[in-house]
Amino acid sequence: MENIQDYTREELSKWLESKGSRSFRAGQIFKWIYLKQAQSFDEMTDLGKDLRCLLTENFYLFRLDLEDKQVSSDTTEKFLFRLADGHHIETVLIPEKDHFTLCVSTQVGCAMDCKFCLTAKGGFKRNLTVAEIIAQVRDARFFLVQKKIDPLNLSNIVFMGMGEPLANYDNLIKSLAIILDTDYGMKFAARRVTVSTSGLVPKIVQLGLDTDVNLAVSLNAIDDKTRSGLMPINEKYPIAALLSACQKFTMKPRNKITFEYILIKGINDSREDALKLVKLLAPIRAKVNLIPFNEHEESTFKRPGHKQILEFLQILLDNDMTAMTRKSKGADISAACGQLKAKLVATP
Ligand code: SAH
Repeated sequence: MENIQDYTREELSKWLESKGSRSFRAGQIFKWIYLKQAQSFDEMTDLGKDLRCLLTENFYLFRLDLEDKQVSSDTTEKFLFRLADGHHIETVLIPEKDHFTLCVSTQVGCAMDCKFCLTAKGGFKRNLTVAEIIAQVRDARFFLVQKKIDPLNLSNIVFMGMGEPLANYDNLIKSLAIILDTDYGMKFAARRVTVSTSGLVPKIVQLGLDTDVNLAVSLNAIDDKTRSGLMPINEKYPIAALLSACQKFTMKPRNKITFEYILIKGINDSREDALKLVKLLAPIRAKVNLIPFNEHEESTFKRPGHKQILEFLQILLDNDMTAMTRKSKGADISAACGQLKAKLVATP
């Protein structure tokens, strides 16, 4: 038995053909799964009984096992899902003015070992399957359906949950095929989907060639010494290599790459840092997203004061850099950036 959510529409078409069925049926099946939120193949009434039987014999359709859900005072919701092998992941549903954004995980844990990030502390367990990535989105939309909210209001996705998306590249690309499938799949617009990376240089250029989604890069420092101290991946792919890959990233004429920059008190938050950041990003179509450090129990890093944060931002703006500070949502339920830490021990 295979999980049908591991299949892209193209793969399902081929499978159907190999069984003597018509390939366009894959589109119908996709509509049932991703738009009509079917729970079983029996519901797919326009398919014919034989095909429904064939599907039931070969595939299963699942939802993630919701073990816990926490709601923040700002109404951000954090889902704790238990996977079939007992591992856990977290997914965060963020309400915006007129839509929802979903922050999706791509791995159980993370191997990048960034010094400021709570997810890193538990180490890396495994990649998520396509089905596990996709189910986070399908189930979040189902959750809205149950609350009588139009599921298409969940229109934005950020791959900024647990894990390094570009380290699970093949499954990321297949998941994007389903997410961006406008005719039969989940109907997300590419400009509303963002993949964030700690800087896996070889995969950055590849992502630009393979998809139209937005790229976000967790830069976090302006010199190699500081960045390597915060993010070990920088030893392998230093800033110059990272920015040169960014310059090669293909995107639509008016698009920009988002550079995430955590502001950590006394580490990377000085006036000089701000000015150097402007200089560093000058050759790139860039915008800067400042994330004031979210403090947590496993780090001694501190968040700079409000004034310091605004000054840093102002320097960027005064130098014609598109920049904003990210309002961290869900901090009171540890759902904000770098605070995701599912129980990493598998429970039987
Ligand atoms: N691995 C990918 C996807 C995770 S995104 C990446 O690194 O981009 C998570 C974002 O939260 C990253 O930009 C990271 O720099 C930021 N982050 C991690 N820990 C944080 C913390 N304690 N406070 C604020 N931001 C944090």
